[in-house]
Amino acid sequence: MTRLREVTPGVLVATSRRMSTNSTLLVGGSDALLIDPAWMPDELDALAGAIRRRSLRVIGGFATHAHQDHLLWHPGFGAAPRWASARTAALAASEREALIQFLGDDFPEALVELMGRVRSVDTGVPSESTPTGIEIELIIHDGHAPGHTALWLPAQRVLIAGDMLSDVELPLPFHPDDLPAYVHALDRLAPYVAQAEVIIPGHGNVGADAPARLEADRRYIDDMTVRGESSDSRIHNPGMFEEHAHMQELARGMR
Ligand SMILES: [Zn+2]
Repeated sequence: MTRLREVTPGVLVATSRRMSTNSTLLVGGSDALLIDPAWMPDELDALAGAIRRRSLRVIGGFATHAHQDHLLWHPGFGAAPRWASARTAALAASEREALIQFLGDDFPEALVELMGRVRSVDTGVPSESTPTGIEIELIIHDGHAPGHTALWLPAQRVLIAGDMLSDVELPLPFHPDDLPAYVHALDRLAPYVAQAEVIIPGHGNVGADAPARLEADRRYIDDMTVRGESSDSRIHNPGMFEEHAHMQELARGMR
């Protein structure tokens, strides 16, 4: 995992060695909201250590969606409430056995136990879990996963995109396969993308190129829907060839 680095004042990111998964920390004073901490046990240990060394108190967690690599937690983060959209919270509970399987047999028991223990937000992150001076808008939609949630920080113009708008992963509208919902989600994100100065994807590089990423995702989906093929270079990234093949099948059904 990379060191925690401040990408803009009050917004810190650390990146896992596994699938470039980003953990984001929103800091106000000595309080912090921890978003999607991930992934490997030693990395979660290190993140807990980094938070402790900065003398930060984690006052809340947030999970962008109900996939196992976005529902993790560590005893060192403390016992603050962890939040997610209603659909994410419901799936984290109903799909718990499958999500545990995805973590793999050698994931430590204590971390397995903590995975997915999220509560449903109403419309926003409750004030008890919002660091002083940080305003957060939730953009809840069904792209990538039901109840998938992006976080928008209007003052900092930061878009924490969950598993969308990645520079390394293709659009992944799977399980359930729902391309129309994904396209709709991109439309929902578009006004925020237009204002974003920083984009933090669930997997990939933090960037200043949110509009280009949205454009690339729309082009890929258009190309796949219309022609069944794409020249998107992300197809050649690790793990993406199978996802691309899945999209080929899905898009064929749309024509
Ligand atoms: Zn995901």
